[in-house]
Amino acid sequence: MSRIFIISAPSGSGKSTLVNNLMERDRNLLFSVSYTTRQPRGQERDGEQYRFVTRESFEQMIARDEFLEHAQVFGNYYGTHREVIDQGAAQSRDVILDIDVQGARQLRRKIPDAISIFILAPSREELAKRLRARSEDSDETIARRLAGAGREIEDYAQYDYVLVNEDVATASDLLYSIVKAERLRRESPSVTARVEKILASFAAPASERHME
Ligand code: 5GP
Repeated sequence: MSRIFIISAPSGSGKSTLVNNLMERDRNLLFSVSYTTRQPRGQERDGEQYRFVTRESFEQMIARDEFLEHAQVFGNYYGTHREVIDQGAAQSRDVILDIDVQGARQLRRKIPDAISIFILAPSREELAKRLRARSEDSDETIARRLAGAGREIEDYAQYDYVLVNEDVATASDLLYSIVKAERLRRESPSVTARVEKILASFAAPASERHME
């Protein structure tokens, strides 16, 4: 059974870089490409970072109950399609969901076993600096994102792991460590299956054991 990892972070916390690094390091992960009504930015291409759709199409998908979760973030719709969980299971890959705090809340209710990770910048000043350096947004948008970040961070207690992104290399290592540690959980079916096999090897006939 594949694991579901939820990763949330206020905009500008460096989440996309960390998630990209994680995807490069581990081929056994499947990135959930969300649907959104926002316009593509910079180098973004349809089907890679997001599936870009109209408001009308998105609302039709909501009406057909196609989303596992969906939310409005900064005036645009974002949603996770139900089929991504089946894809992860079919490919035996763990799924990475990059979603906001509202989506994370909905998902935890539907998939209580999902593992959630909250990423944040070390301070408001640092976040403001990173948002300005990105130079993608107007001053007004940056102010809105900073105010939003304060509210989002208040949700941190709902997450299993919290990662302060001081520098990309360390934070990338830590994020990968979380994924690797989760795969070693005692109750995980793959761990249980492996130990059962080892245990079975101990069940050799007593005569053989005597010889050792
Ligand atoms: P951006 O427009 O900067 O790519 O993303 C804005 C926010 O929307 C980010 O916090 C991102 O995690 C969130 N987001 C992206 N995809 C989804 C989704 O499918 N569902 C929800 N709830 N949030 C999403």
